[in-house]
Amino acid sequence: MTKRVAILGSTGSVGRQTLSVIADNPDRLSVCALGCRNRVDDMMSEAVRFGVKNMVCPNMQQVDGFNCFTGEHAMRDYAAYGDYDVLVVSVVGIAGLAPTLAAIQRGKTVCLANKETLVCGGPLVCDALATAGGQFFPIDSEHSAIMQCISASPAQDVKRIILTASGGALRDMPLADLSYAVKEDVLRHPNWSMGDKITVDCATMVNKGFEVIEAHYLFAKAWDDIDILLHRQSIVHSMVQFADNSVMAQMAVPDMRLPIQYALLGAKRAPSMVAELDLTLQPLTFEQVDIARYPALEVVLQAARRSSAQCVAVNAADEVAVDAFLQGHIEYGRIHTILRQTTEHFDGEIRDYLDVTRIDREARRLAKEGIC
Ligand code: MG
Repeated sequence: MTKRVAILGSTGSVGRQTLSVIADNPDRLSVCALGCRNRVDDMMSEAVRFGVKNMVCPNMQQVDGFNCFTGEHAMRDYAAYGDYDVLVVSVVGIAGLAPTLAAIQRGKTVCLANKETLVCGGPLVCDALATAGGQFFPIDSEHSAIMQCISASPAQDVKRIILTASGGALRDMPLADLSYAVKEDVLRHPNWSMGDKITVDCATMVNKGFEVIEAHYLFAKAWDDIDILLHRQSIVHSMVQFADNSVMAQMAVPDMRLPIQYALLGAKRAPSMVAELDLTLQPLTFEQVDIARYPALEVVLQAARRSSAQCVAVNAADEVAVDAFLQGHIEYGRIHTILRQTTEHFDGEIRDYLDVTRIDREARRLAKEGIC
């Protein structure tokens, strides 16, 4: 029996790599549904290629010969009522939260590649997991690494989580030039090939701030017990320090198909397409993060410590600010100012999904005001 996998966000970078992992594991995995927001033609060709009959998309019409979930809440409805074993949530943005909650509330297994779900809805996801008992596997190289490191240890033995960060495309740009970095520089990530939004988030290290928030909820660690180390080579994907000060690291060539496969197989190992690691090719280095270079990271880490409402706000502000930067409306150096000014308007803890959507909307409005 193969595990039947539904992929919400099948046309993006993680979605496409998930399809290739499934194709490479025909005895273990099969795909039962595809979902996307906008690239309907791409999803249709994936459906034909993989012989998938179920398609999920808010912006599509019914298609003969297919079973289509459509309308505004298509993804949430599929997660709540669809027939699948594992739900991969790799859509972009806050759209990932509702289907994740719906799947967990049914006690289903979710493989999560969507940052916003835990950044904005971490407390809600943890509550749902505690009551419904679904399973949860991260599709992110860092959190997969941590999960691999701690798999054999009881939680109380884990003293510290050390997230590694490449430092992004601007890690060596002179500080004085940083504010005026142009799009082409920012999008030139040294180690990973990803979408534009997340590549900008790597340059600002907002992405790493979001990963701290995710780690806090995924592994129930206090903010003070989660550190970040600059690791230029992206070979050590993260580390865990134990009670006895032993440190375990997970290493591999930077290739998302490894964390994807590990998550899809439910934290089990199998041969993979990922290349072997040759540790003689380059030295591995670790440095402290220079916070002066990453003021937006500081905003995210402060928001995390202050309140879950600020986490929602900083995520919304970042989407607006990064989009404005990519469109050429603001300079790189203004991203962190917009994040700070927007986030300051919010306080308190989120209680339910409506709180999240309300703060998200309000923060977007304030961030856009800040840009004009
Ligand atoms: Mg990551």
